[in-house]
Amino acid sequence: MNGPPGRLAQTVEFRDMAESSIFTRILAGDIPGEVLHETDRVFVLRDIAPKAPVHLLVIPKTAEYIDVVALAAAEPDLLAEMIEVASLMATVHADGDFRLVFNTGMGAGQTVPHVHAHVMAHPQGADSHADGLTEGSLGDA
Ligand code: 5GP
Repeated sequence: MNGPPGRLAQTVEFRDMAESSIFTRILAGDIPGEVLHETDRVFVLRDIAPKAPVHLLVIPKTAEYIDVVALAAAEPDLLAEMIEVASLMATVHADGDFRLVFNTGMGAGQTVPHVHAHVMAHPQGADSHADGLTEGSLGDA
């Protein structure tokens, strides 16, 4: 019996989905979604199902890279720009501190095959940080 597919084995199927990823369709205006910020190469959405008081997604406009490993290997400067934008968003929409998460592979909970960074943070002036930031489990995949 075959074991569960690994990240590489999932790549072909995942790549087929990337061309019309939900993020690409939002950026194109084909489905609703507010773009909070954009540069020539990167845009930002609020996560539709937030798992932190502030939960944003920083996404390259290109759908070429399935995950952060592929992106880092091919265009490290684009990855650096995503992190710069994440930091800016944490300053503008939160208190400046943030958690950055790249789910990588379906087994780690990645559901959209278009690399994106989850930016999780507390809003400015939050009464308490006692609950911490709970980014959720690795998912069911
Ligand atoms: P992943 O599970 O791939 O790491 O993250 C994908 C994220 O995209 C999830 O946190 C999910 O809530 C978010 N998401 C899925 N569909 C939409 C959508 O239509 N709009 C927005 N803004 N976020 C979405």
